[in-house]
Amino acid sequence: MYSLENLSEADLTKIAEHLSPLISSPLPLCLWGNLGAGKTTFCRALIRALCPQVTEVPSPTFTLIQEYESPLGTIWHCDLYRLDMPEEAEELGLIEALYQHICLIEWPERLGHFLPKNRLDLHLKIGADLSRNLTLQCQGAVKIDFCHL
Ligand code: ATP
Ligand code: MG
Repeated sequence: MYSLENLSEADLTKIAEHLSPLISSPLPLCLWGNLGAGKTTFCRALIRALCPQVTEVPSPTFTLIQEYESPLGTIWHCDLYRLDMPEEAEELGLIEALYQHICLIEWPERLGHFLPKNRLDLHLKIGADLSRNLTLQCQGAVKIDFCHL
């Protein structure tokens, strides 16, 4: 487990940029945290770092899934807040995609029993004066050395 505290939005963006060369495909990245915690902000910075040609990274709040092509392969950016049942994720093809692509998942609790065992968890918490606390934790067989963040 690796924790960083008192992060500004610029700090969070920099961490996402530093994380980008440490990840490989396939990988589910699960972003946990309350409304407004900074999940989309982090995903946006990571997608920009992984896909230099991409200019717009809209929040997938309404589309649920946004897809990008990167030199590492396909990236899915998902916001599952509006899912009522984990089975809806399966209908969207997300459960299959978890094992094929880089998947950035906001509101991963909505996956229920489909939550993958091998994943990178990122927990975002709002701290004092709008700063954020970020904890990164590898789960299952995922191994990432965070010391360069
Ligand atoms: P949702 O659950 O609605 O999807 P979210 O976790 O994706 O929310 P964001 O959409 O990233 O949250 O919104 C975070 C908001 O907080 C943005 O408006 C951003 O500008 C602001 N913000 C302020 N300080 C920070 C910070 N230190 N880190 C990240 N975001 C910050
Ligand atoms: Mg969001």
